Amino acid sequence: DVRVRFAPSPTGMLHLGGLRTALYNYLFAKAHNGSFIIRIEDTDRTRLVPGSEESLEEMLRWAGLEPDEGPTKSGKFGPYRQSERVHIYKEKTQELIERGSAYYCFCTPHRLELLRKEAARRKEVPRYDNRCRQLSQEECRRRLEDGVPHVVRFKLEENAQPFTDLVFGITRHDVASVEGDPVIMKGDGFPTYHLANVVDDHLMQISHVLRGQEWLISTGKHLMLYRAFGWTPPQFAHLPLLVNKDGTKLSKRQGDIFANHFREKGYLPQAVLNFITFCGAGFHDNRKVRTLEDMVAEFSLARVVEHPARLDWDRLQEFQREHLARLFGTHHGQTQIVQNLRELIVQQYGERFSGSSILLDEYILKVLETRMGHFTLLSDLVSPDFQYLWGQPDITVQELSMITCHASSVLRTVHKALQDMSTNQFTLEEVGIKLRDVSKTHKAVKYSTLMKMLRFVLSGRQVGPSVAEMMTTLGQTETLKRLINALS
Ligand code: GLU
Repeated sequence: DVRVRFAPSPTGMLHLGGLRTALYNYLFAKAHNGSFIIRIEDTDRTRLVPGSEESLEEMLRWAGLEPDEGPTKSGKFGPYRQSERVHIYKEKTQELIERGSAYYCFCTPHRLELLRKEAARRKEVPRYDNRCRQLSQEECRRRLEDGVPHVVRFKLEENAQPFTDLVFGITRHDVASVEGDPVIMKGDGFPTYHLANVVDDHLMQISHVLRGQEWLISTGKHLMLYRAFGWTPPQFAHLPLLVNKDGTKLSKRQGDIFANHFREKGYLPQAVLNFITFCGAGFHDNRKVRTLEDMVAEFSLARVVEHPARLDWDRLQEFQREHLARLFGTHHGQTQIVQNLRELIVQQYGERFSGSSILLDEYILKVLETRMGHFTLLSDLVSPDFQYLWGQPDITVQELSMITCHASSVLRTVHKALQDMSTNQFTLEEVGIKLRDVSKTHKAVKYSTLMKMLRFVLSGRQVGPSVAEMMTTLGQTETLKRLINALS
């Protein structure tokens, strides 16, 4: 059985790298009819950020990555929050001590600090010197009885064994030559990441560990723990780093590496998922727009390559436009998009327009139909450039008179021509023809000048969609009204 897990630490918001790890785990599980498990790794009590567990889970739900088991979805291997499993880690620590693979360490913070300083003086990487390995059992028992503060350390194997990573291939990291024995149980009674992670992966019967490349160097250590317990380890697949297009490190200082940011901006989850898998490989053809279901069907771990995945932000915009258009093509999607846009309009312009026809579903729908494919985010449609769609343009009397003083006669003709059209006739094509006709009869004003003038009268802007599009979107009544306003 394929069982994989996403094991975030609730230390902040979900970033793109985390989302991608969760996604690949989800895809791998679904592609193999397996289970996708969420486990919260909250044993480092000093790094907890209140609310982040909820936020992580909410973002996964937003992305459509529903777990089969997890803190909010019960399963037979729970609890799925490590802070609720502390008794298990205590038991397993005892087991390692009894097997002679772990030992109590009574070294004081002061001594550890001295070791660090000494290493610094010798320009070496600081490491614990494993002194407490040598303590006699008797001495150990005496100190425990005396209540001397302590931690438990794991005895690293002298020689690390190589293992095969499903992405990075044969890997060997000689931990014991660079690190001292790692702490597995801390003074506060909580385990460290390494112990809890291994114990849980085993007890939760995880078959494959898919996680970020930054954990690759810890894997050798984890495998030693598996051997010490006498357990069969899962298979490991480390996912290449996510980097900027130019190869530089994605930094948390750029606010936009958090998944929440994209949701708030109005990006569709599908677009974001496409974006983060686009260069991370895993698929035969990287260029394609895919839904989550498509991804499940097409994902292959064998296609994940080891070089860093470069994020191409331009592609995010493209994926967003395409997914938005797709969603708009469905009945449910259309309703949702109309509603979202209405909320944005009210948010942006207040109740200023309520009661007027612009908040009608029909009108909003028409705007969306006309503009679909030409914008990225719904919020683009409430930007100043498109304010005219949702209310009278802000044009001053002076501006208007400057524009129209030499042109009131041609504007009047335009008004008349459009007024004479039947409502059915008021289409992009017919309106376009009418405008050209009027221009031909008014040689004094160039066609392009006339269009600039009309665009300004309708929208208060110099640039924007074609005049005929503006007119048909606003509708005949509103168009005539704005022309009259300009003329009076
Ligand atoms: N809690 C670790 C993290 O936050 C999990 C690493 C792993 O998947 O083993 O990344």
